[in-house]
Amino acid sequence: MKLFPALLASAALLLAGPALARPHPDTVDLSVPTQLPRTAVPTHYAITVTPNAAKLTFDGLVAIDLRVTKPTRQLVLNAADLKIAKATLTGPGAKAMPAKIALDSQAQTATFDFGRTIAPGTHRLSIAYSGEIHTQANGLFALDYKNKEGKDARSLFTQFEAADARRFIPSWDEPDYKATFDLTVRVPANQMAVSNMPAASTKALGAGLKEVRFQTTPTMSSYLLFFASGDFDRVSKPAGGREVGIVMSRGNADKAHTALDDEATILPFYNDYFGTPYPLPKLDNVAGPGQSQFFSAMENWGAIFTFEYAILDDPAITTEAQRQNIFGTEAHEMAHQWFGDLVTMAWWDDLWLNEGFASWMATKATEHFHPDWGADIERVGSREGAMGLDSLNSTHPVVQQVRTVEQANQAFDAIAYSKGESVISMLEDFAGPDVWREGIRRYIAAHAYQNSRTGDLWNAQEAAGAHGLTTIATDFTTQPGIPLIAVGPSRCVAGSTVTTLTQSQFSSDRRQETSASPLSWHVPVKATSGGAAAQVVTAGRTTELKVPGCGTLLVNAGQKGYYRTLYAPQQAAALAAGLAQLGPVDQYGLMADQMALSTAGYQPMATGLDALNATPASGNAKVVEEAVSQWDDLFGLLDADAASQSTIAARIVATYRPRLQQLGFLPKAGEPPVDAILRSSLIASLGKYRDPQVLAEATRLFAAWKQDPGAIPGSLKSTWLRVIARNADAATWDSIHEAAKANGGTVERTTLYQLLGRADDEALARKALDLALTPEPGKTTSAGIITAVAAEHPKLAIDFVIAHLDQVNQLIDISGRSSFMRRLASASHDASLIPTLESYAEAQLAATDRKPIHQTIDRIRSQSSEIPRIQSETAQWLAAHR
Ligand SMILES: [Zn+2]
Repeated sequence: MKLFPALLASAALLLAGPALARPHPDTVDLSVPTQLPRTAVPTHYAITVTPNAAKLTFDGLVAIDLRVTKPTRQLVLNAADLKIAKATLTGPGAKAMPAKIALDSQAQTATFDFGRTIAPGTHRLSIAYSGEIHTQANGLFALDYKNKEGKDARSLFTQFEAADARRFIPSWDEPDYKATFDLTVRVPANQMAVSNMPAASTKALGAGLKEVRFQTTPTMSSYLLFFASGDFDRVSKPAGGREVGIVMSRGNADKAHTALDDEATILPFYNDYFGTPYPLPKLDNVAGPGQSQFFSAMENWGAIFTFEYAILDDPAITTEAQRQNIFGTEAHEMAHQWFGDLVTMAWWDDLWLNEGFASWMATKATEHFHPDWGADIERVGSREGAMGLDSLNSTHPVVQQVRTVEQANQAFDAIAYSKGESVISMLEDFAGPDVWREGIRRYIAAHAYQNSRTGDLWNAQEAAGAHGLTTIATDFTTQPGIPLIAVGPSRCVAGSTVTTLTQSQFSSDRRQETSASPLSWHVPVKATSGGAAAQVVTAGRTTELKVPGCGTLLVNAGQKGYYRTLYAPQQAAALAAGLAQLGPVDQYGLMADQMALSTAGYQPMATGLDALNATPASGNAKVVEEAVSQWDDLFGLLDADAASQSTIAARIVATYRPRLQQLGFLPKAGEPPVDAILRSSLIASLGKYRDPQVLAEATRLFAAWKQDPGAIPGSLKSTWLRVIARNADAATWDSIHEAAKANGGTVERTTLYQLLGRADDEALARKALDLALTPEPGKTTSAGIITAVAAEHPKLAIDFVIAHLDQVNQLIDISGRSSFMRRLASASHDASLIPTLESYAEAQLAATDRKPIHQTIDRIRSQSSEIPRIQSETAQWLAAHR
């Protein structure tokens, strides 16, 4: 690459004073892990980038103001997929020093050697370099689509978390090296450029180009920098004393109003909750076509990025669940503007502080603004999702050790998000919501523009009045696993229920070992027995519990606790008998808990099935959804017992068809949103179990849809087409394929392509896999087809991916590669897959980076070993409950 000297000069001049930043600390905390030598601290980056979208390359110049903290000959920065042409260091009273540059692609570093020792003090490092524009979401990347006129179009975006800012700028690309950023971009004059801050100036450069210089960002981590450029529209409005906006490809503004309204609703709520108003002048949410197998949205400060399917509300294809997800995703990313962006974890060990908190806050905002969406019940679903992983020996604590880039990518898992959310829910319940909010306000105020660790949050909570919280919080965040609370025989003493709780540890793959030497937690246990709730915090092996009233004892009343409850048989029977009278949250939690304990072998299958069977098919929509999904999971485990499977299928159809009939096959104006979602989920389930009425309606709608794309209501289109795709023959599959090819709309087109992977028929599933390796579906759509195949044919999909690994890796973003295999295997309990997964891990992953695969292997091994017992006990129960 030939250096463009004029650019180097202009970059060095761009050093405006940071408008919003607090003074940057001179040094970093030496106890924070790092992959870079602690010899210098960046304070400000002035970056100029000129993309060449057609050639998928860019030229960059950066001038980094830094403080050398100890004498050194070398500066070591992160850099990946960059070519560095020239670098010079200037400092007070010294001549410009050119650097010898050494790149290490393995370590993702660039070492600049100046041939002599640099004294401590302030310096400026200027670097001219070039890089790649990727076709998956890492670093600077391109997303291709058909524009409103049906022509090929390409937009550019960036995605830097966890460790991909280094693909855009040579940088100290770790979260505790906070600095301010001035970004200048040279882009086509007819495109819109977006970054964290509003534009400070725009000037024409001639030759169809313009230069946009953005205002200086606040002090922030490198992974939060953002840039996008494309043929965009933007809608905006004032909210919370700032401006909120949605940016999307031209012609789609009419699909952005749901997201814009949600954003405007949430911002003032968060300003109040966090006690520190959102500090940037504007908050955009930028929609990009396509998808990633790793993430759907990213919290870049002031410029959230979201894939179109998760933000645009398109009457032609968006389901009610997706519409609610727009709110949930925005609420999550907007919570990060404080938890993550304003206050950032010092290192990836504490990633859960970002993700658990944002997940919890999104649920809180949803409950506040949409109390009829059942977010309180979904929170229990989140707990169950976390426990699925956390019950394995190969789980990890919420606060975990991250030492490689790959481990940082792997840290984005159900433990960080869902266990994090569940533990915070439990702690808020323990502290009380007002004390908890005060603790959050103190924490944000104390660490704004800085980095923090998990302990800082507990200190703020204790200072706000949450006495005793740290002990509980530390147990649940530094130890892996799930407490198991066994309830002893209970007695009625003077109008109260008295019992002994015995604490152990729940495990799905090491029941004997954990029973013999369990971990121990301080667990806040809430219980009811026909009167007011009582709470104790367990300490040691046994704890006395006394609850007002002498009714049926319910432990974990309200379901905020992160533990499992093992009842004595009589207690469990009484709870099942009265299950329909419990509130929906407790119905859901009790049923899920009982099924998990039965499946793991802590109690007979009958105990779980009695609870499942006791949930009324006419009850709360969310509880019904979960009950169907429990039956569905059980069906999946019994594929060696065709008779039990067909009994369960018949049972699902007979039990839930009346509910679907009552809801009707088509949406009703003004119906509760949970009903709309339940309809969709029952159509999918009854379609899977081949209910003739559902199949007949699907066939009728499909025939009509082939004539008129508007014949199926948009909010149910993907649901009905999924029933069709699952049961497709070759001709039907071809029809869906033709419709996908002909479709111009990005979200709908992607949906149709993925449906091709849903076929039960193995030959058609193979056809879908072959199609995924062709350019036809598009670079970010193909991996989703493979994932769709894996839902019904996991072994087929995994063998295919292993056979075509190099090609498939091109279809997935780098951050998502090692978790892709876990996802493909997630529907399988087939022990014959274990050697395949083991040899894949050995051949493809560094020894430090195999945790997700080992977790998958552990899960498959434990499930497959329990299956014979589950099968015989289930068959007995089914025979007794015809
Ligand atoms: Zn997040």
